[in-house]
Amino acid sequence: MKNIIILGSGIAGCTAAVYTARADLRPLIISGPEDGGQLMLTTKVENFPGFPEGVQGPELVEKCKKQAEQFGARFKIDIAMDFNKIGGGFELTLMSGEKVQTKTLIAVTGASARWLGIPSEEKYKGRGVTTCATCDGAFFKDKEVIVIGGGDSAMEEATFLTRFANKVTIIHRRDTLRASKIMQEKAKNNPKIRFIWNSVIEEILGDGKFVRGVKLKDVNTNKVSEFKCDGVFLAIGHVPNTKIFKDKLEMNEQGYLKTDKFMHTNIPGVFAAGDVQDIRFKQAITAAGSGCMAAMEAEKYLAEYE
Ligand code: NAP
Repeated sequence: MKNIIILGSGIAGCTAAVYTARADLRPLIISGPEDGGQLMLTTKVENFPGFPEGVQGPELVEKCKKQAEQFGARFKIDIAMDFNKIGGGFELTLMSGEKVQTKTLIAVTGASARWLGIPSEEKYKGRGVTTCATCDGAFFKDKEVIVIGGGDSAMEEATFLTRFANKVTIIHRRDTLRASKIMQEKAKNNPKIRFIWNSVIEEILGDGKFVRGVKLKDVNTNKVSEFKCDGVFLAIGHVPNTKIFKDKLEMNEQGYLKTDKFMHTNIPGVFAAGDVQDIRFKQAITAAGSGCMAAMEAEKYLAEYE
């Protein structure tokens, strides 16, 4: 039985790996379906302390991973499909078929992009509808795209997309942005970006192969209009990845894992950190910080385990 399994390899998981590896607990980190987590899909991170010039998201994760490996952490590409309590600890069933047992678990499964959930979105997924500007932006060189959302992600994605697209339109369901002032200003001052307020997407329009536009509804007047574009970038927040913990760990109504202030879940020996339990901050630095806290608590738990 392993001392510790860290489920998820984003910045929270990698930080927990650094701490538990340095404590000589030889942690095993199971990557999950999005190896490296959300930072792998971002560009420059400007608010992680210690990087006055900013740091690329993937570089930050890779370096943290290397740091953990240096102290004896082992990373495994696999996905946990089931989680159960067993005598003396917990068992995970992985997609590869392997079963692994552990005395403690740190759940850092993160959150994944939210989709609109309309049928036409499903039809045009990967054909112009995407949730990742850094992955797909280059396909829209000299094209016209829209970004849906009013948070930091929407501002960041829209600004990034102006490298490729001719015109970027941010469509937001209200007339006030949720994004931080600095990110708002960046987008508002970009001559390639314009805004459409108080509007939601009713339908994604296409020619059967690719996106050709959207049907927009003004939420104040209920007026529906068509807007031509070649790409639809969704930046409407995230949903926590907690499917395997359903009915096993306590969650809130949105599916975020519940923890106390020391990152303990309701089951002794299971800790959670990062976006899977963060309903408020959702920053790289807070994810890393909570990963550290969970690791230190897991270490303490193991010291008392015998
Ligand atoms: P977010 O802050 O939750 O914003 C989601 C946006 O999508 C909101 O404006 C919301 O509208 C809108 N929305 C949600 N569901 C929708 C729907 N079904 N249809 C249309 N619009 C919908 O998510 P986020 O922008 O991904 O940011 C998440 C966290 O990461 C935040 O804490 C943010 O600060 C952080 N972040 C930081 C950076 C950075 O600092 N560099 C970059 C990216 C993200 P309402 O406003 O009306 O609710």
